[in-house]
Amino acid sequence: MRCKTFLGVSLCESYDSVRLSGRFSELRDLREVDLRSPQTRCYKKGGRKIAGKVAKRKGNMKLKTLEQLYISGLRDLYSAENQLLKALPNMAKGASSPELKEAFEKHLEQTKGHVERLEEIFEQLGESPKGKTCRAMKRLIEEGSEILKEDGEDSDLDAGIIVAAQKIEHYEIVSYGSVRAFANLLNQEEPARLLQATLDEESETNEILNGLAESIVNPEAVSETELAAC
Ligand code: FE
Ligand code: FE
Repeated sequence: MRCKTFLGVSLCESYDSVRLSGRFSELRDLREVDLRSPQTRCYKKGGRKIAGKVAKRKGNMKLKTLEQLYISGLRDLYSAENQLLKALPNMAKGASSPELKEAFEKHLEQTKGHVERLEEIFEQLGESPKGKTCRAMKRLIEEGSEILKEDGEDSDLDAGIIVAAQKIEHYEIVSYGSVRAFANLLNQEEPARLLQATLDEESETNEILNGLAESIVNPEAVSETELAAC
């Protein structure tokens, strides 16, 4: 038995019952009832089906947008971290305070790990990490470079370098926070874990810079602390 379908709904049941009856009157009645009502049902069911598909498509569109934001954010960070790999040695070189130099050198090593984590995430996603330039990081690094060219007291220049470095860390903290949130929303557990690990290191670096800023900008405070500890 062949059934005609309309918008995915079978019409065979109504036609078959008409053929078996062999009675014109019934056919006429059925035509009025069954041949019309299935259509009505079909339209209704079909309409619901289409509405469901549209709703599903709308849902997918939202998910797709979030995925796009996620990948775009990751690419932005990949560009930012690679720019930092080149900038951090200059920042370490420009710093006068041995502690500040050491902080930059340590963060350079961490930054290499940040790049590796992002590459691991992109590998898991089957996407390329390239294709975007983080202009914000480019500008933040330029600002830092401008301070390195200035003349002045070592402590003042160090304070300026710290401010530039903290602006960079804050940018990274916000960016990693957002992609980590996207990863959680998209049920990307392993990427979320990797992004959190980097986020922790960025926050830790920011705290170290905070401490150095206090000791470099306000050495008297350190002397007082050191005296109190003696
Ligand atoms: Fe980083
Ligand atoms: Fe960083």
